[in-house]
Amino acid sequence: MTWQLTDDQLDIQARARELATEVIGPRAADVDMAEEYPWDNVDALRDAGFTGMTVPTEFGGGGHSFLDAVLVVQEMAKVCGVTGRITVECNMGAISAVMAYGSDIQRKMAAEMVLGGDKPAICITEPEAGSAASEMTTRADRKGDGYVLNGKKHWITGGGVSRLHLVFARVFDEQGNEEGIGGFLAIRDETEGLFFGLREPTMGLRAIPEREVLFNDMYVGPDMVVLPPSGFKRGFADLMNAYNSQRVGAGTVGLGLATGAYELALDFVKEREQFGRPIAEFQGLQWMLADMSVQLEAARSLTYRAAQSRGPNNSPFPDPALAAQAKIFTAEASIRVVNDALQIFGAAGYSRRNPLERMYRDVRMFTIGGGTAQILRSVVASRILDMRVPQTRGGWLPKG
Ligand SMILES: Cc1cc2nc3c(=O)[nH]c(=O)nc-3n(C[C@H](O)[C@H](O)[C@H](O)COP(=O)(O)OP(=O)(O)OC[C@H]3O[C@@H](n4cnc5c(N)ncnc54)[C@H](O)[C@@H]3O)c2cc1C
Repeated sequence: MTWQLTDDQLDIQARARELATEVIGPRAADVDMAEEYPWDNVDALRDAGFTGMTVPTEFGGGGHSFLDAVLVVQEMAKVCGVTGRITVECNMGAISAVMAYGSDIQRKMAAEMVLGGDKPAICITEPEAGSAASEMTTRADRKGDGYVLNGKKHWITGGGVSRLHLVFARVFDEQGNEEGIGGFLAIRDETEGLFFGLREPTMGLRAIPEREVLFNDMYVGPDMVVLPPSGFKRGFADLMNAYNSQRVGAGTVGLGLATGAYELALDFVKEREQFGRPIAEFQGLQWMLADMSVQLEAARSLTYRAAQSRGPNNSPFPDPALAAQAKIFTAEASIRVVNDALQIFGAAGYSRRNPLERMYRDVRMFTIGGGTAQILRSVVASRILDMRVPQTRGGWLPKG
């Protein structure tokens, strides 16, 4: 590992590794089997100071960088993808958006929640608006000083367990004129009109609910408006900007899972014997392991670089193109690496007694959630060609 981490970062990494190895890892199989949100792990993360790490110190947070949080995510995901994802969302994504765009009162409230262990939910995707997020139909109609929200989101991570929700909706003034996309806060068990629907039975990462979230005449006062409806372009741009930290975090969970799988395979090839010798002596497996290590190093470098970057115009979030490059490569490489690790275990890898089976299911999601690998390629293409790349009919347009 040649990446230069500071002494503080090495210390964070070591503390995270200790917690992961001693507490989180031994519970991972049970967490997967139970398919229940691992509140004990959340308590352990909170007690170790691994929630609210990126929240500024003035709001009681750790004041850490995204890279610091990435180091913790990676260690958790090595042993438990679910806990890795929880770590992401207690440090990046919705919480980062509130910290960047919210009022002081909102930031204080959100900070207290994540420091207490809440994993905020980010509500964008709808049944008819997935990659085409800007086609969302959830609407927020102006009523007095506030807004009334109606609509339905799905695939919302943490739906039913998260307290804080950052909800995106199309905003309409009192005359019914559309003003753009805005972001609103809602709190489970407090905000009237916030409901939870069906839970999706997922392939992997089964202990975090992916659920429908519904808004039925949900009133939010002006104090709960984070991103005002300042015009379609800005509202949507801000939304996508906030998502870049989440993207780096999501890629990191894949990286952690793949690193964990690779390390298991490295141990296994030295122990397992066939044809009278350790299988590590077969060149076919040596080259697989070598390729796995190359992919992990490349993924790590892209991820750390993206975590340290800043987008244009003093953005507090990672650069969109670097975040997209990191997530595309890391998500795809992680799937290959976990698949190869499972192959190296032979039949044992296919058994549910072995963590590889769980890791294989868990890692599959990262080319999909948080922007698919295809959509992220369009983000990269837009940067390298210096062109807007609209996905709607009408072709490629020059920037501006
Ligand atoms: C585990 C998990 C957790 C999630 N958590 C959340 C969450 O917390 N909050 C939230 O809001 N959403 C969440 N999502 C939703 C996720 O962001 C969407 O699934 C994703 O944006 C893709 O949308 P879709 O599934 O509707 O696929 P679609 O958009 O219908 O895409 C279908 C296929 O077409 C491809 N495609 C679509 N448009 C293009 C194009 N222009 N060019 C090339 N290919 C294209 C896609 O890449 C994909 O392969 C989650 C999803 C998963 C799986």
